[in-house]
Amino acid sequence: MSDLYCVFGNPIAHSKSPAIHAAFAAASGQDLIYEARLAAVDGFQQAISGFIAAGGKGANVTVPFKEEAFRLATRLSERAARAGAVNTLAFNGSDIFGDNTDGAGLVRDMTHNLGFSLAGKRILLLGAGGASRGVIAPLLAEKPVSLFIANRSADKAVALAASFADIATVNAGNFAKTKGNSFDLVINATSASLSGESLPLPPGIFAPGSLAYDMMYGKGETPFLALAREQGAGVRADGLGMLVEQAAEAFFIWRGVRPDTVPVLAELRAKLAP
Ligand code: NDP
Repeated sequence: MSDLYCVFGNPIAHSKSPAIHAAFAAASGQDLIYEARLAAVDGFQQAISGFIAAGGKGANVTVPFKEEAFRLATRLSERAARAGAVNTLAFNGSDIFGDNTDGAGLVRDMTHNLGFSLAGKRILLLGAGGASRGVIAPLLAEKPVSLFIANRSADKAVALAASFADIATVNAGNFAKTKGNSFDLVINATSASLSGESLPLPPGIFAPGSLAYDMMYGKGETPFLALAREQGAGVRADGLGMLVEQAAEAFFIWRGVRPDTVPVLAELRAKLAP
């Protein structure tokens, strides 16, 4: 019988994870089934118990269950403990291992797919929600020269920065606080692009040759990437590569095999083409 995996979320119908994992499995000769499963907003724990009872070996977790998955895990990776959120679960008897592959996926997309090294770079991270928290430690591990977290609610950015003070000095404030500075990498980890909104970023934040990275992806240019183009960012990328790379990292945790992400990303990109 094929091993069973799934992604839990609410909503979940839009998820590209089943197609990504099916492509990984086919290319690497792994015998598995990967499904999208809708869990009730107040029924995540029950959904996980049912899935384990049905023989499920592992699950990805997306909005709004990442924090609940963190609490449900009986064992956590160091990066999941830092992130306070789990996007990958592996089940083995009574052991529920929780990991967070979002940061590794983001870093791998930048360093491998985009050929952008983070070492010695000035990074601006926009947003102070779950996605932002999940990528901070992996970003700092690449040894940037500085990291600034800017958020609409400045207090959340300041609190987030303080929680990483044992690793590095991280500066924080509202968007206006970035005025007068320029950055080699600007990452949009807000959900503003989801509602088609632009961020009030001061001019001059994109250094020559800088990378503008929007975690959001979809058909066409996001408002953040349009702004980055107008303000002269050298390279612009959306979060489709991050999605594929975080999935590859989860696949590796479950199967011990690192899938080739290049053809899978190319196929998804072609499907998104306007
Ligand atoms: P959260 O709800 O946890 O956080 C949302 C953040 O966006 C907060 O910092 C919030 O600011 C800010 N925000 C929301 N609306 C606006 C606005 N109109 N103007 C300015 N700031 C705004 O969301 P997540 O952190 O979970 O997700 C953020 C984004 O990252 C989403 O678009 C998600 O799709 C994407 N993502 C992509 C992944 C990928 O694989 N490509 C993986 C994970 C996430 P405030 O604190 O002031 O409310």
